[in-house]
Amino acid sequence: MSPALTDLAYLIASVLFIVGLKGLSHPRTAVRGNLYGALGMLIAVLATMVSVGLDFTWIILGLLVGTGVGIWFAFKTPMTSMPQMVALLNGFGGGSSLLVAGVEFAQHPQNAMGLIATAVSGLIGAVTISGSFVAYAKLEEMKIARDLRLPGQLFINGGLLALCLLLSTWLFFQPHLLFLYWLIVAVALLLGYFLVMSIGGADMPVVVSLLNSYSGMAAAATGFVLSNNVLIISGALVGASGIILTRVMCVAMNRSLSNVLFGAGAGGGAAVSKEEVDAAYASVKSTTAEEVAMLLDVASRVVIIPGYGMAVSQAQHAVSDLTEALVSKQISVEFGIHPVAGRMPGHMNVLLAEADIPYELLKDMDQINATMEQCDVAIVLGANDVVNPQARQATNSPIAGMPIIDVDKARTVIIIKRSLSPGFAGIPNPLFAAPNALMLYGDGRHAVVEILNALRNG
Ligand code: NAP
Repeated sequence: MSPALTDLAYLIASVLFIVGLKGLSHPRTAVRGNLYGALGMLIAVLATMVSVGLDFTWIILGLLVGTGVGIWFAFKTPMTSMPQMVALLNGFGGGSSLLVAGVEFAQHPQNAMGLIATAVSGLIGAVTISGSFVAYAKLEEMKIARDLRLPGQLFINGGLLALCLLLSTWLFFQPHLLFLYWLIVAVALLLGYFLVMSIGGADMPVVVSLLNSYSGMAAAATGFVLSNNVLIISGALVGASGIILTRVMCVAMNRSLSNVLFGAGAGGGAAVSKEEVDAAYASVKSTTAEEVAMLLDVASRVVIIPGYGMAVSQAQHAVSDLTEALVSKQISVEFGIHPVAGRMPGHMNVLLAEADIPYELLKDMDQINATMEQCDVAIVLGANDVVNPQARQATNSPIAGMPIIDVDKARTVIIIKRSLSPGFAGIPNPLFAAPNALMLYGDGRHAVVEILNALRNG
């Protein structure tokens, strides 16, 4: 394949990436956007394979092993564990970038820009891989990934970064010293470990999207090492979109990026004594599906706030049926979607779209909060942290300052969950004991089906 033809193929692939990304910005065009992106990647991979004259034996072997592992993971991983999966994949992206850059550096002499790109790829790729593995362990709530913050942690991190930069400068002036590259990688692996280890579990959504951005930057740097335009462009697109998503997540959680990276965030389970919890929940009232159906029957405006529990119980189809039943009774139904509800960005939107719930009914946090006082019944379905009023009051809470959906301002709040257990941030929720709150204990899907049956029979 002539270089001109390869460049043309890369140009087409890059345009498809950009059009695909644009499509991903709206639910209606997202599937098409995804297909454009995949087509772009196919063209880029095929063009690279035929233009560079690679040894296909290894490529086919790699494809077989990678596809096998990928299929196994895809079937084994439940939807609720997607963030962990995304974290791992980011790590693999960073890891492959640093390995390719390392091999290219060992085989071909690099010019000044290539040397800088090699060091950048080693540094960012290694931070991505160790940071992503720690994020994976934290999201899996593994004991080895409990928050770790050594005395003087900031100085340790700063020192490790300075050491990486020092080694990179040395490498720049003495490029024949191959071991320096792997030394940069080793120090950066430690840096990635410490950086993420000290960040609390509740801030993981921001960290995962930041690591996603890092994996793109590492790929772009490797693109410079290989002088491969499409890798530079696709890496830059991933890097830039990851940063934008990180910003959106930071705004959603009312965190500044530096606060997440250097501040003490929440743990996957902050320690709260049993007495404190018992006292907080002394006045909790419970209800039944029949009572909820009666409340809904006389309501004119209902807002449903879904959370992680809706995903676990796969309640979205039952919710869709309930919505239809309410709308047929001339009751207005809307959904209040918190940006970090569930376990991945857009988690609730994906589930509700899967159940064909009209997109117009989905309101973002600011829209729904503005009208929450006019809501007759708010149904909190398997959500917890995103409706926890502690975020507004307690300054020492791990979720302090995070904007929430103000369900406590509705006339009546129904909270559907199996128990009074805390959510991801591991803290009690005073909403459960609010005077206008009623707990409906049970699995999310079963509870919604029971309410629906009671509504139809009543
Ligand atoms: P949450 O605070 O984690 O609470 C979910 C609640 O669902 C739990 O309290 C649990 O209570 C209930 N639940 C579990 N299984 C259920 C079932 N089968 N039926 C009914 N209820 C069930 O969830 P959230 O309000 O959606 O908040 C999300 C949290 O995850 C935030 O802290 C956010 O920072 C974090 N996070 C978000 C992302 C993201 O990108 N969206 C990524 C990582 C972490 P019971 O056990 O009593 O049923």
